[in-house]
Amino acid sequence: MRSLQQLTRPNIWGLAPYSSARNEYSGHVAHVFLDANENPYNDPYNRYPDPLQQVLKERLSQVKGVPARNIFLGNGSDEAIDLVYRCFCEPRKDNVVAICPTYGMYEVCADINDVEYRPVELDEGYGMSAEKVLAACDAKTKAIWICSPNNPTGNSIDRDEIAKVVTEFDGIVVIDEAYIDFSRHGSLSQLIHEGALIGDKAVTARVIILQTMSKAWGSAAIRLGMAFAAEEIIGLFNKVKYPYNVNQLTQEQALRRLSDTFAVEQWVKMLIQERGRMIEAFEQLPLCTEVYPTDANFILIKVVDAQKIYDYLVDKGIIVRNRTRITLCRNCLRITIGTREENNELLAALRQL
Ligand SMILES: *Cc1c(COP(=O)(O)O)cnc(C)c1O
Repeated sequence: MRSLQQLTRPNIWGLAPYSSARNEYSGHVAHVFLDANENPYNDPYNRYPDPLQQVLKERLSQVKGVPARNIFLGNGSDEAIDLVYRCFCEPRKDNVVAICPTYGMYEVCADINDVEYRPVELDEGYGMSAEKVLAACDAKTKAIWICSPNNPTGNSIDRDEIAKVVTEFDGIVVIDEAYIDFSRHGSLSQLIHEGALIGDKAVTARVIILQTMSKAWGSAAIRLGMAFAAEEIIGLFNKVKYPYNVNQLTQEQALRRLSDTFAVEQWVKMLIQERGRMIEAFEQLPLCTEVYPTDANFILIKVVDAQKIYDYLVDKGIIVRNRTRITLCRNCLRITIGTREENNELLAALRQL
């Protein structure tokens, strides 16, 4: 089994990170700050934010049931995705394996970092075969990407298949749970940290779980993504990230959002109810030939002519996502669940076709 050091790029393992003024001063009570070349005026935005976002992490820890020391926060989950490559993958030498189709950023970040990307096709029902994923790996495979519920297909990936990948692969396994709040299956984060999914703690120490405030939490604009992982991995991410990667406005707004979890629960409840209604409505539409099962806040449907319907909807000022050029998604549209009124407008438009 490869150690975390063997999985990490040598320059990153040995990296002496930038030490900011706010890193070096901590703990003592102070009231005169002349250490960071800040302007003393324009309080409170004259000050650099907490580089490790301790207050926000403590609050998230309560909400998510994950210890604060196992949380990394970034400028969207996209930052954590990029950090996986920058920390573990040697350009032009290492590779990663991912289910296909899935979220496009895994491949874009692989391309940017000049790392080989190996897509493994899901089956016809968008299920993952652990065996097929493992067969695509070799000694240079550093990470495997699993998105569950998956984007753009909407379904959850079978837990036993995920467990098999995690158990048998001796590298990093990233499980992207951007849509977990809409799923009937809970997050794998607690299961993993309690060792309930896979008994072997050394194995689960290589799992990174991604979540975000962009979807159920209604906060895509503030750019706040989370990674839950072993302390050693969080430490690597913290070394490589920009020192002040999560700005003060974002930290404040995230805390405000987290102070009203009731609102989030209500939104999720309404969206799940609307999702059920939309599934039934799509099933009645003649132009819709298939409605795929979903655990997310969107529905993938197969239609007779995706491009034609997409253009027709654009004409009416309604934008959905045309996924027809994506592997296994020929003539598929991905439709986000909106408010009841927005959903009705979409249905009315489709019924006129
Ligand atoms: C929307 C989405 C994200 C969120 O990315 P942010 O950078 O946090 O906004 C992450 N993963 C998947 C699969 C998504 O669909």
